[in-house]
Amino acid sequence: MTFYPLASSSKGNAYIVSDGDTNILLEAGLTAKELRRRSPVPISSIDACFITHEHMDHAKCARSLCDKGVPVYMSEGTAIALELEDANVMESRETVNVGALRVMAFDTYHNTAQPFGYAIEDTHSRERMLFAVDTVNLNVRIPGLTEIALECNYADDLLGRLTKLPDKVKERIRRSHMEIDTAVQYLHKLDLSRVQIIWLLHMSSASGDAGRFLDRFEHEFPGIEIRICKE
Ligand SMILES: [Zn+2]
Ligand SMILES: [Zn+2]
Repeated sequence: MTFYPLASSSKGNAYIVSDGDTNILLEAGLTAKELRRRSPVPISSIDACFITHEHMDHAKCARSLCDKGVPVYMSEGTAIALELEDANVMESRETVNVGALRVMAFDTYHNTAQPFGYAIEDTHSRERMLFAVDTVNLNVRIPGLTEIALECNYADDLLGRLTKLPDKVKERIRRSHMEIDTAVQYLHKLDLSRVQIIWLLHMSSASGDAGRFLDRFEHEFPGIEIRICKE
């Protein structure tokens, strides 16, 4: 199972998970044109798309994918918010099989109707990946994880220092996105014994710091490869 981050920030999110036969798109937060440009596979080869929530940086081309006949999965709350009658609605903890990949939805915590994260399992190789973005915290426990893609949006001291950002906006960020200490503490609660890679997603350009985040995670999780997804 290979994870390809195509875009990861408040400007747009799109990620592909592929086992070589089946291609799953996580998030549709690019224009259809930009998705086509960045995707390692043709859009016609995308077997299903899973969307976490209705914010446009995650759902911009959801309708266009539906119109092209791609099955697009999300929570009922997200489908209602997007007014997407063609969406495939999932419940939290429900599982959907796409080829040899199995995707389970779980609840996340964001300022939207009914946000989800997804766990993806390759039923042949038994690799398991956790994918969660735009969530203030997490409590899901997936056994046997081999790869993790988790939001690490900001460091609170850097956010606090942004003098031009209104306090209201800072509070909204603190209530809807994952801070670096929260990400570290959450990961320490998981069984990481099989985890090979941790991807850090959706880093803020204003209140994140790639070098510092990388140093911190490499120090906290020795032996695990840490990668920061680019914008
Ligand atoms: Zn976002
Ligand atoms: Zn969001």
